[in-house]
Amino acid sequence: MKRSVPLIIGNWKLNPITLSDAAYLASAVARKHKTTPEPYVAIAPPFPYLAEVGKKIAKSAVALAAQDVHYEPIGPFTGEVSAAQLKDLGATFVIIGHSERRAMGESDAVVRKKVQAVLKHRLTPIVCVGERERDEQGNFFGFVEAQLRSLAEVLPAAVMKKVVIAYEPIWAIGTGNTATVDDVKEMQLFIETVLTKLYDRPTAKAVRLLYGGSVKPGNAAALHAEGDMNGFLVGGASLKADDFAAIINAVS
Ligand code: PEP
Repeated sequence: MKRSVPLIIGNWKLNPITLSDAAYLASAVARKHKTTPEPYVAIAPPFPYLAEVGKKIAKSAVALAAQDVHYEPIGPFTGEVSAAQLKDLGATFVIIGHSERRAMGESDAVVRKKVQAVLKHRLTPIVCVGERERDEQGNFFGFVEAQLRSLAEVLPAAVMKKVVIAYEPIWAIGTGNTATVDDVKEMQLFIETVLTKLYDRPTAKAVRLLYGGSVKPGNAAALHAEGDMNGFLVGGASLKADDFAAIINAVS
């Protein structure tokens, strides 16, 4: 996966309500992104829809992603889904540590274990980081740095290069309060600086960075051009095939 080609992932969260709605939406996304390899596009439906959505996008350029994973490979873990199962269903990407999961108690330690499990199965982890709120003193930078540092404790440089980091400030998710292009650019530079400190410059340059938080057709082009990230993680706007396509076109 070339970092110079943007990656756009649609996170459907707990939507839609029925399998037929999911199949319909997946088919619409697939139709709009049939063969064009660039940008890279993936959709992350809820677990029960993965197989059907996988079939609907099979002949398109859209890849399959999961919204979460369990770190154990097999056994008595009621309600959980393993990396091997996701791989078997055709997933390529797995979102890990989304703030909505962290709000349910997912710790940095659990995020690390999930990242390791996913990498072991040659899936690409999309690790979400981001602060709850911004403060005048800039303490939020320290918060993001701690989340990155936690990953660096267990991932050597060669492995870190395979990880995608999604910067998703919690205050921007689902609120309509998009970060400004300056906020995004500043965080892109900050994350690269932290990764350079934790690893080295080639590793920092190899890690793909996404922005997520109220990305819409109207702000995608500016965020992409000036924010200097390598793509987007899109929530709400990925539930409308036209809006999602407009975001894809904005970075094409
Ligand atoms: C998300 O949930 O990852 C997200 C970015 O949501 P939204 O685009 O709706 O803010």
